[in-house]
Amino acid sequence: MEEELNLYQELYKDYSDIKSPIGAVRYLSEPLINKLNHQISHQHQIVNEGNSVLDRVISSFEFGQGSFKILIWSQMHGNESTTTKAVYDLIYYFLSSKFKNSDEADLLNHLRIKIIPVLNPDGSFAWTRTNANQVDLNRDAKDQSQPETKLLMRIIDDFKPDFCFNMHDQRSIFEAEESQAAQLSFLSASYRKDRSLNETRLKSMHVINSMHQVLQKFIPEQIGRYDDAFNINCFGDNLHARALPTVLVEAGHTGNDYAREKTRKLCFIGLIRALIELKDFQTSENSDIYYHSIPENSKNYTDLLIKNYSVSETETLDISIRYREILSEKSTLIFEPYIDQIGNLDHIFGHQTMDAELEDIQINSEKIELQAIVKSLTINANVFVVKFEI
Ligand SMILES: [Zn+2]
Repeated sequence: MEEELNLYQELYKDYSDIKSPIGAVRYLSEPLINKLNHQISHQHQIVNEGNSVLDRVISSFEFGQGSFKILIWSQMHGNESTTTKAVYDLIYYFLSSKFKNSDEADLLNHLRIKIIPVLNPDGSFAWTRTNANQVDLNRDAKDQSQPETKLLMRIIDDFKPDFCFNMHDQRSIFEAEESQAAQLSFLSASYRKDRSLNETRLKSMHVINSMHQVLQKFIPEQIGRYDDAFNINCFGDNLHARALPTVLVEAGHTGNDYAREKTRKLCFIGLIRALIELKDFQTSENSDIYYHSIPENSKNYTDLLIKNYSVSETETLDISIRYREILSEKSTLIFEPYIDQIGNLDHIFGHQTMDAELEDIQINSEKIELQAIVKSLTINANVFVVKFEI
């Protein structure tokens, strides 16, 4: 394990040389994705898997000649791009062949990996969770009412993967452990209502545990586990019900990393770890015990927390401010602050926290009420615009 850990430390250290040429952005525009695919096409075959509602091409890339087959898809929720950046990093890494050790070099001899970087291109370019028919594709696994979900199920039937990765972003509201924000979360979904264990769930748990063991060296206490309430309409649950192990990865948020670049790097390293584990896959007993020791996520975080704010002469309350992401005409995202909660918020932590008892703070908005847009903050007579653009 120690020698192996060196590998991940090296990947972490050399990541800027490894990663794909996507910059520190959240919104991945259509020209950017087309440019990447075009660049890759000089070296590697792109498969046109089919089309979205608005007739956009959904592409995949395949690597390796092994017998164990892995399917990875990202951005089935259009406004969740961090893992798309990470899977493009993986694609560029495979193309570069600049592997650090024999374990990695051996990956493509043992595995056959199909990657779909953007499953929901219409949602991705419009920056919406849903597809162009306003359907949440991760609630459409059973009905398969949409071209994108039909396409994914068709790929699963044809390619017959042994293992899947369902890659997402989570909102910035999640706490992992002891007041720490969840930078990453995982789920081995239930396969039926009673949430009982079976071999398929244990396989997913085993791979999650292997990723967790490495990643927690970089981000101790910042990895969470998602609630495993069963929903047959979600892909993870549905595929587990069909005995196909599927790991849900949720790229999260900490600190001021709104471009989620640190998370992207950790997702890439986590994927390498998972692939090495799957190279000679053997499950261990007690995978569930380790898995359940990962803390379950709770919705205890906000972007900006202002404590003890004077809402009247006699009353002070805490104010939680969150960001709404708005796609601009310049293909950037505007993070617009709005008031999300008002009250006694002792149980809430802020990615940024200020105390109005210690500093003179004024929230500049039409009214101090829920959903009100925050134009700026005045702190000790200086005005700070909280809105920003990435
Ligand atoms: Zn999602």
